Amino acid sequence: MILELEKNITTDKKQVIFSRLFEQNLGFKEIYFGNKNIVYLTTNKHVSGLDRLEGVSKILSSFKHEFKLASREFQEINTVVDVDGVKIGGEKLVMIAGPCAVESLERTMTIAKKVQDLGVEILRGGAFKPRTSPYSFQGLQEKGLEILAEVKAKTGLKIITEVIDTETIGLVGEVADVFQIGSRNMQNFSLLKKIGRTQKPVLLKRGLAATLEELLLSAEYLLGEGNKNVILCERGIRTFSNHTRNTLDLSIIPTIKEVSHLPIIVDPSHATGKRNQIYDMSLASFAAGSDGIIVEVHNNPSEALSDGFQAILPEEFAKIVEDSKIIAKIRKRYF
Ligand code: PEP
Ligand code: MN
Repeated sequence: MILELEKNITTDKKQVIFSRLFEQNLGFKEIYFGNKNIVYLTTNKHVSGLDRLEGVSKILSSFKHEFKLASREFQEINTVVDVDGVKIGGEKLVMIAGPCAVESLERTMTIAKKVQDLGVEILRGGAFKPRTSPYSFQGLQEKGLEILAEVKAKTGLKIITEVIDTETIGLVGEVADVFQIGSRNMQNFSLLKKIGRTQKPVLLKRGLAATLEELLLSAEYLLGEGNKNVILCERGIRTFSNHTRNTLDLSIIPTIKEVSHLPIIVDPSHATGKRNQIYDMSLASFAAGSDGIIVEVHNNPSEALSDGFQAILPEEFAKIVEDSKIIAKIRKRYF
């Protein structure tokens, strides 16, 4: 159950509500959600009579799914996440591009300038890399963050970079405009809760084999701590199909739009693992209603320290940007 409190509710009235919940042994949490003051129960119990309490303006008790704060029942209008002026989930589509990993200042700057010239406003690049093999390049880590900070200062690009554990949230947060939570961490609930306590936008990538409900329940952990700036990301899932690295599940987009108010973007790079499919899957993503794409772009893919096989050149990315504009029109979107 979710209780929406009146805008100017007095402390006394709030105390009455809280005591009432305490008396009934109901776990609950108070959060500020945008301009809404919310109290939600941390159980699935249904309690009657709460609507009679003074100071409660609205009660939501019937949800089609287990996720509540992420649901359309809770919020009918789409959430638009504001990344320091760059809006995600509105009419304008978002293009995020950059290398898989930050490799050097020079290379990151070169790629950043090239994608910026193509209209990109958010640069991707991992400093802390969660690699399947411990023998693979793990990212430049702190040094990588310093490079991102310098590129950000020189170009004005916003930065999205992955945070892989709770210890480095502060460090990563100093440079990141968007925290990326990788697929492997989608169900790292302590990480989700700590990120939820910040107000920083977060890109939550779908787990390697997560269902739509599991993805939205992970989003619920972020929202439940009061961070309403959640962007979902479809990046392909493990299936028996092995012609691509993962299977891009584009039908998740219309389904998410139906059941949730959160924006969703697509990562065609990790979904396909094939640079010759990035164009097709990017256009398909926009056709399916995606709010944006996040693409691995590198100026010299054969020398990339990670995921070079799926990186495309800036010139190839330019064609995606151009042709996606045509698809965008059909969906009444633009960039
Ligand atoms: C990434 O985007 O850098 C990444 C590691 O992706 P994923 O978590 O989707 O595998
Ligand atoms: Mn990668």
